[in-house]
Amino acid sequence: LFAGEVEFLKGVVAMDGLPPDDRAEVCFAGRSNVGKSSLINALTGRKALARASNTPGRTQEINYFTLGAERYLVDLPGYGFANAPLPVVEKWQALLKNYLAGRASLRRAFVLIDFRHGVKAADEEIMKLLDRSAVTFQVVLTKADKVKDKDSEKVLAQVRAAIAKHPAAYPEMVLTSSEKGDGIATLRAIIAGLD
Ligand code: GDP
Repeated sequence: LFAGEVEFLKGVVAMDGLPPDDRAEVCFAGRSNVGKSSLINALTGRKALARASNTPGRTQEINYFTLGAERYLVDLPGYGFANAPLPVVEKWQALLKNYLAGRASLRRAFVLIDFRHGVKAADEEIMKLLDRSAVTFQVVLTKADKVKDKDSEKVLAQVRAAIAKHPAAYPEMVLTSSEKGDGIATLRAIIAGLD
């Protein structure tokens, strides 16, 4: 669906660096190490595409990819980097807030949650910010291949309960494994189907 037409466009560090909002876009958010780069690579069929955005210096930028001529895929910086200096954290939080609140062409945010761990405090924060920004978000559970069936119900219940508290949340979750390919086609279809 996207393969062959996905390109890294640019890394954005300030609002005036955003490309013109002339097409629909989706963004991906998640705690560091949640599997965001792996998922973007699996989605786009381009190995190591998102690795560029994971290298030091790129990690606190909003990274734009083109999906053909009609969509942008936006990779938000991973959060939960408690060790970063406060001014760095504050600068990125301000950029994130302005981006989410001001990007008219943003159709949906995908909030990635590690299926093994469920919703953490940092995820709650981002969901609240999405509520306040009125950006519809959909939870994507990652690393589904690492969760045993007998453990999955408990996490699913926790995530469902968390989602239920957020007005901007889309009720359906997507279960994915970048390793095994589960959920990737579903997610592609969701992105392609957004107007
Ligand atoms: P990011 O920091 O959110 O971009 O996370 P990465 O994509 O770099 O992944 C973090 C770690 O989780 C890496 O060691 C990946 O190999 C691993 N990982 C990511 N996705 C999956 C998955 O679907 N299944 C398994 N088993 N491991 C995964």
